[in-house]
Amino acid sequence: MPVSLQAQGSLASTLPLLGDGSAMSASAERRLGDRIVRELYRDPDFIDDPVLSDYVQGIWLPLLAAARARGDLTPELDERFAWRIVLGRDRSVNAFALPGGYFGVHLGLLAVVSSRDELASVLGHELSHVTQRHISRLIAKNEQQTPWMIGAMILGALAASKSPEAGNALIVGGQALSAQSQLNFSRDMEREADRVGFGVMTQAGFEAQGFVGMFDKLQQAARLNDTGAYPYLRSHPLTTERIADMQSRLPLGAPHSVEVAPTMTHAMLTARARVLANPGADALRGWQAQADALASAPTAAQQAGALYGAAMAASRLRDAAQARKQFVRLQKMVADDAEAARQARWLGVEIELAARDRSRPQVLALASNVGLDLVRPEAVTALRRPDLLLQAQIAMQAGQDGVMDSAAQNLQVWLVKQPQDTLAWQWLASIYAAQNHRLRALRAEAEARIAQLDYAGALDRLKSAQDRLRATGVANSSADHIDASIIDTRRRQIEALFKEQALDN
Ligand SMILES: [Zn+2]
Repeated sequence: MPVSLQAQGSLASTLPLLGDGSAMSASAERRLGDRIVRELYRDPDFIDDPVLSDYVQGIWLPLLAAARARGDLTPELDERFAWRIVLGRDRSVNAFALPGGYFGVHLGLLAVVSSRDELASVLGHELSHVTQRHISRLIAKNEQQTPWMIGAMILGALAASKSPEAGNALIVGGQALSAQSQLNFSRDMEREADRVGFGVMTQAGFEAQGFVGMFDKLQQAARLNDTGAYPYLRSHPLTTERIADMQSRLPLGAPHSVEVAPTMTHAMLTARARVLANPGADALRGWQAQADALASAPTAAQQAGALYGAAMAASRLRDAAQARKQFVRLQKMVADDAEAARQARWLGVEIELAARDRSRPQVLALASNVGLDLVRPEAVTALRRPDLLLQAQIAMQAGQDGVMDSAAQNLQVWLVKQPQDTLAWQWLASIYAAQNHRLRALRAEAEARIAQLDYAGALDRLKSAQDRLRATGVANSSADHIDASIIDTRRRQIEALFKEQALDN
């Protein structure tokens, strides 16, 4: 049930308006966000799991579209900010907005949500903190701090929010913790993010019940005083006012405690998040026992989740026989659900690639599972990111030129639209290297660094490409000339960006 735009007028008057000098400019905020996210990309807990990322994007993009349609996301912010989600391997339940339109989501959150609607309610709330410029106002309040100090403060607060067992992957600045409270949103801001976020998620087509389900989860955790596992609760305390506010938004007569039933797909992805967040051998072995107790699982979704987790965990324990056994059961179970069947196919390919016990024809036979047998360029648009990245891995393991060419072509088509896709650049670099295209491999490696804002690393690769060209002389083929000129152009562009970045520091 979308909230009408007129209903928002009252709140706008209680908050400072944009452009009254109390907010940081959008481009300054983006630069600060870039500085922070550059560090997050280097954190060992940063994870780009193509399957989970694909799932989160499938929720995130409709939310962004709804925020645009409602006018919450202005064209200026749309263009200047990154609007990008960064996944962290941490087991704790957390999601947070960062300056410049970056968002962090812990695997622990993906592991506890019961439906995509619940995840949409959290993401819609965080999205709204940014569209409403709450972050820029917090930063403006700290005007005596340099952006460098604010960046360190935010990184420190993030490190402190991690599970204790995750270790201190990030270096915490001395004053970060004491300063953390200065970065907390006010109650008014929380209320506004709830209200706008609710409007965004429902307009995007998600069930309002997702909001209620998430509140119920947070309430239970609050009752258990479980803020260690739920850092989201520390930054988003559940006041009775917040809960009453939320309940008043539900349509009259709507049941208040009925959860949206999880789909098979959702249960499988939740299982994936749990396996990735808790990769210890004991935890992985636990999945087998859970799958054996399957007969008692009340719903098909729960059964599919248990089988998915068991197959994936067995594969990670290098028990290919067990992984295949659970996978076959899973495949039968999800056969009639197109999306769940696709998820299962991806897992099946992963299991076979990890087993590394297949002949070349058997590896090549996997290609049809991810559309690699369709070489027409227009077919690429129907592929999803996990398809493309699995294609590259199949091609590399098969080690056959024709297949590597097709996989590389598909990645190139994808990268024209998604130049920020580090993982895609990395796989493209691996394929080029395997085919002995050294220059192209170095350039693709440079692009992978650029996508994570590591300009120094990118320049290293571009320089060694140029050294190589000088040492060997540009060959006669026109392809080499084109590569050489692309590399020269990119080096000049990146040197300029690198200087800008250095000035910021
Ligand atoms: Zn909030």
